Amino acid sequence: LDRISKGLRRSTSRMSDQMAASFNQRTLDREALEDLEDILIMADLGSDVAEQVSSNLAEDKFDKQVTDLEIKVALAETISDILTPLETPFVLGLARPQVILFVGVNGSGKTTTLGKIAKRFGDQGQRVLICAADTFRAAAVEQLTVWGERAGAPVMSGKPGADAASLVFDAMNRARDEKYDILMIDTAGRLQNRTELMDELAKIIRVIEKTDSSAPHHSVLVLDATVGQNALSQVEAFRETANVSGLIMTKLDGTAKGGVLVALSEKYKLPIHFIGIGEAIEDLEIFSAPVFAAALSG
Ligand code: GDP
Repeated sequence: LDRISKGLRRSTSRMSDQMAASFNQRTLDREALEDLEDILIMADLGSDVAEQVSSNLAEDKFDKQVTDLEIKVALAETISDILTPLETPFVLGLARPQVILFVGVNGSGKTTTLGKIAKRFGDQGQRVLICAADTFRAAAVEQLTVWGERAGAPVMSGKPGADAASLVFDAMNRARDEKYDILMIDTAGRLQNRTELMDELAKIIRVIEKTDSSAPHHSVLVLDATVGQNALSQVEAFRETANVSGLIMTKLDGTAKGGVLVALSEKYKLPIHFIGIGEAIEDLEIFSAPVFAAALSG
């Protein structure tokens, strides 16, 4: 809780300070409830969640004196209730190789997160193969190679601009023939435009499914918390094409926008696996709803 709290301190402190200033012994009337909703919306929790918190509070405290602590407790409870059903450990199925696809826009932390998870699997004795299917960014391949070395996982890459789907086809065959436990596929986050990006993703997925009808076993969408409400449109864009099976939210350290995870959970109800709280290999935490709720509520 400490490490996550520290990471979320910025999200928290602003909201926490505002609540302390606004709700130090105040009667919970209409105006107070509106002020509360404003604070929550400013913290990127979204208007649905803001309304839920205020109606939960109003149920037993309307027109009574409240403290900021009571409000924070109610907030933590509401957030925890929303997030608990989505708290989903990242579990490997029995089929081998397990094919794990990583999608998300450039800069979201996709490559870093893939590397952190590859290292975990490597440490558990799983044989991991990494496929660098972002063939447009040479830097992404270099970065993956470094992570691959840390994880003891070979990285397959193509020539710059090579066809990503044929690289994925080769990786699927190699993973099967050489009996890898896990194939992790990093995809591009930006091509010329969104249609092109989604077409390429769809093509990659078709190739995966043709090679192994049970795959991909996971399609993980990586989201950067610092983009705030834009995370919602990223979910919208990827969820259908990539058939997203779960989320990882990165950069929850040092952002005032961590509340967006609650907003998008309320809206899309997608499983949440991990949160990223820094750039280092150990800065990936298994997602826990009560811990996150407590940290975010201050
Ligand atoms: P990609 O373009 O989606 O593959 O993103 P990268 O993995 O290259 O990450 C973009 C930047 O975000 C890099 O500088 C990473 O070190 C950084 N980053 C990734 N995850 C986190 C995180 O949880 N916290 C912080 N502070 N930085 C992160």
